[in-house]
Amino acid sequence: MEKEVVEYFRNLLLSQLEELLSEGKRTIVSIQEHEGTSFADPVEQAFVDQHLNMKFRIKDRESKLIKKIREALARIDDGTFGICEICEDEISTARLKARPVTTQCIECKQRGEQWERITEQKAQMQ
Ligand SMILES: [Zn+2]
Repeated sequence: MEKEVVEYFRNLLLSQLEELLSEGKRTIVSIQEHEGTSFADPVEQAFVDQHLNMKFRIKDRESKLIKKIREALARIDDGTFGICEICEDEISTARLKARPVTTQCIECKQRGEQWERITEQKAQMQ
């Protein structure tokens, strides 16, 4: 991969990471604000609990993405970024632009999904 292209993806990943981290900080603050508060009104309490659960779920998804972005940045550093982890072919730039944290080329990804569907169907039949 061209040096300029690698730099492009490094910047893209870094700005995504920054965005997620500042977003994450806001989520933590609002979770702390609500945590431990109890409401006399059970409806209100249920609403707040539900709201918190949703926030935790978002948080969980965010931290997974943050981990993936960090891994992608590490791959940029060790020069394996943009190489499919399965077939070791280069992943297309278009695919990387759409999903810079990806570790598989489209062919391997689709094959993996097909395999998942087959095993899922098998599990359902049993
Ligand atoms: Zn591949």
